[in-house]
Amino acid sequence: MDAIQSKSINEAALDNSKHALSKMERALTMIDDPDFGLCRECEEPIPFARFMIMPESDLCVKCAEAIHR
Ligand SMILES: [Zn+2]
Repeated sequence: MDAIQSKSINEAALDNSKHALSKMERALTMIDDPDFGLCRECEEPIPFARFMIMPESDLCVKCAEAIHR
């Protein structure tokens, strides 16, 4: 019983890790871009924390909000 429970917990943790890893891998493929880390609109640096949440982002928080308004 305990073994089964901890197996599903481990699998959930593994799933989360795989998800985070695939996001970071996608971010890594963009690092070669000279504009990496700069906002597409205002060319301000995008905070690293934002990349951790959504590595595919090429807008800073301000511009992303302005576009979605
Ligand atoms: Zn911006």
